[in-house]
Amino acid sequence: DTALDCARIRADFSILSQEVNGRALVYLDNAATTQMPEFVLDAIVAHYHADNANVHRGIHTLSERSTAKLEAAREAVRRFLNAASADEIVFTSGTTASVNMVARAWEARLAPGSCVIVTALEHHANFVPWQQACARSGAEFFVCPLAGTGDVDLGALEARLAKGGVSMVCVAHVSNVLGCVVPVDVVARLAHAHGAAVLVDAAQSVRHERVDVREIDCDFLCFSGHKVLGPTGIGVLYGKKELLGRMEPAWYGGEMVAQVATALTTFEEPPLRFEPGTPNYVGAIGLAAALEYLEGLGRDAVAAREADLVAYAEERLRGVAGVQVVGAPARRAGCVSFTVEGAQPFDVAMLMDKLGVAVRSGSQCAQPLLDETLGISKVVRVSPAFYNTHAEIDACIEALERVVPLVSRGR
Ligand code: PMP
Repeated sequence: DTALDCARIRADFSILSQEVNGRALVYLDNAATTQMPEFVLDAIVAHYHADNANVHRGIHTLSERSTAKLEAAREAVRRFLNAASADEIVFTSGTTASVNMVARAWEARLAPGSCVIVTALEHHANFVPWQQACARSGAEFFVCPLAGTGDVDLGALEARLAKGGVSMVCVAHVSNVLGCVVPVDVVARLAHAHGAAVLVDAAQSVRHERVDVREIDCDFLCFSGHKVLGPTGIGVLYGKKELLGRMEPAWYGGEMVAQVATALTTFEEPPLRFEPGTPNYVGAIGLAAALEYLEGLGRDAVAAREADLVAYAEERLRGVAGVQVVGAPARRAGCVSFTVEGAQPFDVAMLMDKLGVAVRSGSQCAQPLLDETLGISKVVRVSPAFYNTHAEIDACIEALERVVPLVSRGR
């Protein structure tokens, strides 16, 4: 049995045991940010208490300890992603920074006649950097449409690849609105067959899907620490060694250089080339603790529990009169979005908060998906994590059933 001990787990997340507006907090906004277990908070505080010093710099004991822990964190991320080498792991401030770094560097390869493909379900973080790089370079920006269920239309993807000129395919592993799992290994195979590279936005997948960069065979993969039980301000860019090795840095400064002279500066090899200045080493240490905690629970057990909770949430939401669930993907992970007939999603979320239930409302940073594909502009999103319970989903539904009559037009 891989079942998790929910009571024990919840004891690890003290933030969950509080009242909001006089009600027990029901935190169902995990797709935006997950909470940190005490194990991670302790690792961060312990570092500041005992080992803190700038990394890679002075040859003194504390600096050596900081550096060793940063590099151990890099190795922990390598293991987590099953990357071939720790040199393929670049620490950034988050998914957004990781994508921008690649898009900036990739722009040198783009020109009129070349093409970047994104999909219609991308978060703005994996959409706008590519759109802007294409606008500056004159490359085509192709948005791959979705099939009716809300899954990426692989036929349309292959058709555009076959026309030629595609340099890069950028795709989310899991949509932060539809919750669909995109078969990124299939996308990578198609892209490579047509000579294109692949960047996977794994921000919404790393917590509930097993992300193996060698199995997927992606060229780049990005994620954020704060969506996988880690702190904010730390993220990861995975890149295949030969690609990172040929990439220009996006930012310059200390630590990323080999030799600096007035006439010429040479750069370090990756990953240091892409980590100018003082890196967020404490963030990296916190992220490594988060990954260790997840591994300790068992990633398959976490994935199974989250799949069960999200399926239960979807089933219950479909039973609420006046609620429409958005999309019916072949496989769902992480979240369910919905609308309420005649109501503004913001009003729904605001009133649910009054009942202690934290859900997200808005465009979820996916305006092209909501405006152009779905035509609904805003949604409410429920996103459970393994530390949530069925009773909390029930409490969410009860709150929603109270809110719907208050906000629906024509009541
Ligand atoms: N991509 C997806 C799919 C996301 O859900 C998010 C966060 N909402 C991001 C990218 C951006 O992540 P961050 O804000 O941590 O850079």
